[in-house]
Amino acid sequence: MFEKVLIANRGEIALRILRACKELGISTVAVHSTADEAAMHVRLADESVCIGPPPASESYLNIPAIISACEITGADAVHPGYGFLSENARFAEILEEHGIAFIGPTAEHIRLMGDKVTAKKTAAELGIPVVPGSDGAVETLAEARKVAEDIGFPVLVKASAGGGGRGMKVAHDASELEEAFHTARSEAAAAFGNDEVYIEKYLGHPRHIEVQVFGDGQGNAVHLGERDCSLQRRHQKVWEEAPSPALNAEQREQIGHTVAEAMRKLNYRGAGTVEFLYENGEFYFIEMNTRLQVEHPVTEQVTGFDLVQEQIRVAAGMPLSMRQEDVRILGHAIEVRINAEDPATFTPSPGKVTHLHVPGGLGVRVDSHVYGEYVIPPYYDSLIGKLIVFGKNRNECLMRLRRALDEYVIDGIKTTIPLFERLLREPDIQNGLYDIHWLENWLDRD
Ligand code: ADP
Repeated sequence: MFEKVLIANRGEIALRILRACKELGISTVAVHSTADEAAMHVRLADESVCIGPPPASESYLNIPAIISACEITGADAVHPGYGFLSENARFAEILEEHGIAFIGPTAEHIRLMGDKVTAKKTAAELGIPVVPGSDGAVETLAEARKVAEDIGFPVLVKASAGGGGRGMKVAHDASELEEAFHTARSEAAAAFGNDEVYIEKYLGHPRHIEVQVFGDGQGNAVHLGERDCSLQRRHQKVWEEAPSPALNAEQREQIGHTVAEAMRKLNYRGAGTVEFLYENGEFYFIEMNTRLQVEHPVTEQVTGFDLVQEQIRVAAGMPLSMRQEDVRILGHAIEVRINAEDPATFTPSPGKVTHLHVPGGLGVRVDSHVYGEYVIPPYYDSLIGKLIVFGKNRNECLMRLRRALDEYVIDGIKTTIPLFERLLREPDIQNGLYDIHWLENWLDRD
């Protein structure tokens, strides 16, 4: 097992990793920018190293500074969290060249899933259902027309290097295809420096359902059920739950089994999430994230497994601590993302938290780095905490969420708490009847 882990991240996820390390008896090293000197992850770690100025490109994404921090402190492994360097294959390789373990999959698997065209092709070969579309990249408009006619409109033109919903354009009919094709290409070139695009059937009212998987790179792989993350704004998840209100036990088992089997064939190591769109009883692969997800706590709450500890163990060369038959989904869990944002306009609201009261009690978990008098810096994403509630069933969770939101006090800045209070009054939310467009349609109605 590792003796010292360096956490190459900040905010709530740095704390989450720190907690897992402490419970495993591993020493921790925090890294931070000059803007994060007073951050909670720095205060709670055994050691800390300043790695640069506030912009992430010069600190949390600064590979030489992070490698130096490992060498100065003698860390034998790095946990990248999510975002930043978590899906950077080159980073994983450089660490390895320095004899430092990367707590995540192999560089090869990160690369394989990092390019969407390759990922989709690999998924299909592994027996995972994919969205009908072009066979790889589409180079010309004529080719795009041919694919669109074959699969039928509406279609979606997507960037191979895509991320965060950018470089994605819908064409509802043939007349819209030319513009969609060119716009997606130029957006992709501008955002990712790569204008390769591909085409998919556009699904009109899918849910976003993702399967949590774990492999140990030693031939074992399991799934830990699914999360429903359909409530999104601009492709950003705002509310996640497990299990999905749309699936029954048989469907859950079937898709979980398919994905776990695929990961076994790949000999995948570490935590992974296979994301699907789900419509009319069918699953369609969209991408795989080769890292821990923001919403992993809902899976932890319904399965009882500590996913971060499992990542660390597997990266240290230990076999998976669970077999498929040990994984049981018990009860229900919902996570809402508390952002430092105006709940109506979603503009960021950094600044000083003048007063803080965090909810507690049975079935309530708060993963947050915020403390009273903490000043939220303006340089990073606006997630300041995750409120996770769990209970015997979905109804109990909804009641508990209402009660916990009611207890939550964060003064001095604006947060998304009022948004969730309003959402809970909606019958569609109460009944679990929402797709990936529900939230934006609802916000547009106001
Ligand atoms: P990104 O990496 O940019 O987030 P994804 O492929 O994960 O791209 O897609 C992001 C979101 O775009 C999905 O969650 C879904 O809301 C929408 N989307 C992607 N593919 C399709 C599709 N074929 N039909 C309808 N919506 C889609």
